[in-house]
Amino acid sequence: MRIGFIGLGAMGEPMARNLASANFLNVIWNRTTEKAEVLAKELGVHKAKSPEKLAKKSDVVFTCVSADDDVLDVIWSMLPGLGPGKIVVDTSTVSSATAKSAAKMLEDKGASFLDAPVSGGVEGAKNATLAMMIGGESDVLNRVKSVLDVLATRIVLMGPTGSGQGTKAVNQAMAAGINQAVTEALAFAHELGLPMDKVIDVISGGAAGNWFLEHRGPSMTHAQFQPGFKVELHQKDLRICKRMAEEKGLKLPLTIQTITDYEILIQEGYGEEDISALYRLKP
Ligand code: NAP
Repeated sequence: MRIGFIGLGAMGEPMARNLASANFLNVIWNRTTEKAEVLAKELGVHKAKSPEKLAKKSDVVFTCVSADDDVLDVIWSMLPGLGPGKIVVDTSTVSSATAKSAAKMLEDKGASFLDAPVSGGVEGAKNATLAMMIGGESDVLNRVKSVLDVLATRIVLMGPTGSGQGTKAVNQAMAAGINQAVTEALAFAHELGLPMDKVIDVISGGAAGNWFLEHRGPSMTHAQFQPGFKVELHQKDLRICKRMAEEKGLKLPLTIQTITDYEILIQEGYGEEDISALYRLKP
């Protein structure tokens, strides 16, 4: 199976590396060409001149780009190179509606689509321990399952196209609440004059322990906010969550609060920092 990969950012690059290590990766493309040139040389894979050329050289294409329009742009550019039997697996976080539009574009070419957003952060991408939530047909998933196993330790088919992104929206709403809880509580610990590294260590081993505390607690309390997961990307996701909730007549108060807080961070120039930069706003 010839695999192509588009989007070599914080998540895409380590995923592409893992596919190369498993001898699956054939060809890569990135909007900023130099990134693809350097990585292709290092991994000994092809660098395509365009998404269309990459699609021609691939049986399965992975995409990992920023937002809804970017996914649709990239798929649009690939279309002339896609045909019956080919599969696109989109690991970006976008709306369910975008996943359905992407699937429709591919269906018209006889190709298949899986929405396959991931959770587990840059660490999960590097260590191949991502959780992957899939929307699409089970027979399509079965055809690529051995490849997905190289990237993720938990792969769950959630239902038809868009269900993967629906599940990811739930994940992102939850992540907003966790970010609020962890940053607020650690600011509280700081005000109490407690030894922060010990606070993080002992709480991580108890009932309030969680991934974000363990992986981002030490860095945020040392004023390190290197992504990780950029504020502006989570902001994009939370706007998707808010829209999807509103369509169901729901309000998500923690999501709405976090959108407001991230807007402040973005205005202050911290949009490219990790989402733990929310700690900056806590008293
Ligand atoms: P990133 O580091 O900002 O990388 C974004 C990638 O998308 C880059 O390769 C960029 O190309 C490419 N791109 C953006 N717009 C494009 C367009 N219109 N056409 C072609 N390529 C385009 O972002 P990331 O952190 O890897 O996130 C990628 C996706 O994964 C996002 O949907 C994000 O929400 C999701 N995600 C992120 C994390 C995380 O912890 N970071 C975790 C789970 C899911 P250039 O190099 O040219 O800029």
